[in-house]
Amino acid sequence: MSIRIGIWGYGNLGRGVECALKQNPDMELAGVFTRRDPKTVQILTEGASVYSTEDVEKMKDAVDVMILCGGSATDLPVQTPKCAQMFHVVDSFDTHAKIPEHFAKVDEAAKSNGKIGIISVGWDPGMFSLNRMYANALLPNGKDYTFWGKGVSQGHSDAVRRIDGVKDAKQYTIPVDSALDAVRNGDTPELTTRQKHTRECYVVAEEGADQARIENEIKTMPNYFSDYDTTVHFISEEELKKNHSGIPHGGFVIRSGKTGWNEENTHVIEYSLKLDSNPEFTSSVLVAYARAAYRLSQEGQSGCKTVFDIAPAYLSAQSSEELRKQLL
Ligand code: NDP
Repeated sequence: MSIRIGIWGYGNLGRGVECALKQNPDMELAGVFTRRDPKTVQILTEGASVYSTEDVEKMKDAVDVMILCGGSATDLPVQTPKCAQMFHVVDSFDTHAKIPEHFAKVDEAAKSNGKIGIISVGWDPGMFSLNRMYANALLPNGKDYTFWGKGVSQGHSDAVRRIDGVKDAKQYTIPVDSALDAVRNGDTPELTTRQKHTRECYVVAEEGADQARIENEIKTMPNYFSDYDTTVHFISEEELKKNHSGIPHGGFVIRSGKTGWNEENTHVIEYSLKLDSNPEFTSSVLVAYARAAYRLSQEGQSGCKTVFDIAPAYLSAQSSEELRKQLL
């Protein structure tokens, strides 16, 4: 019997999960749940239904794992613990400072209802966190570097859009090549924020808006841009639509470490991602972890987990026996 997956919230990640399920024959879509009028939400899977989140109790026995696809700022802190009372859950919570608090809430809800919750799944947090952890465990004497990009930062794009006179905008985060090269060479430089990444903004200004003022407001914006070298390009609405409508992202997790009695040997571990679509990749990771949640539940486990707690074999559609044949 296939694993019945529910999608809670239908935005970029929700659609991405739906696409990923198409590639995982051991799973099927049990339904999409939305706060909006279900009739207004068009999904891709023929024969599947969209339900109001208010009716979720009725679907308690029809869904094995609910994949939470809401936003981290205000949706997931409420939705994940609530859903963990009824279903095994997986989410992509990425508000770094609040992960311990979120973990505690999901853990309590999941444990008291015999459910599994896996939180903060995706690429960062998620696959990047896991690869940083592996590298640290293997090379305790070393230094970590994470570079993001080239990719769209939604938060920074939103910040530019909020400036008076800006009609639309896209912001890219770009790693600095010379810093990346130094780290890949096994050097362990101390890098400032400015030395690691640059920011590039494509801005559509309102007609008659003062472009010099907008550029200055962007470049001097505290927390978002003032610590970076930022380039601002003013372009037309058509150009933004044509060349900047995707949501690419990615980056590099690198650890360089020393071994040997006198630390004479250097090793560099690198994990990199180049993603055409940030949400579609994130969703693919969520779906693999939904399989793990289901399998852990079959073993009678409950409570909240993160990517650190899940053994790799639980993610794979293949059996342990099949996987062992691929050890070499
Ligand atoms: P979206 O803004 O696309 O969707 C969030 C929610 O908004 C949906 O669940 C949906 O809920 C609602 N929504 C979506 N479209 C519409 C619409 N047209 N009108 C009204 N409401 C709508 O967010 P994303 O899917 O892009 O991202 C979700 C979260 O994923 C982010 O907040 C981020 O924190 C996290 N993330 C984590 C990553 C990681 O590596 N860990 C990577 C990428 C993202 P409903 O259907 O109920 O209305």
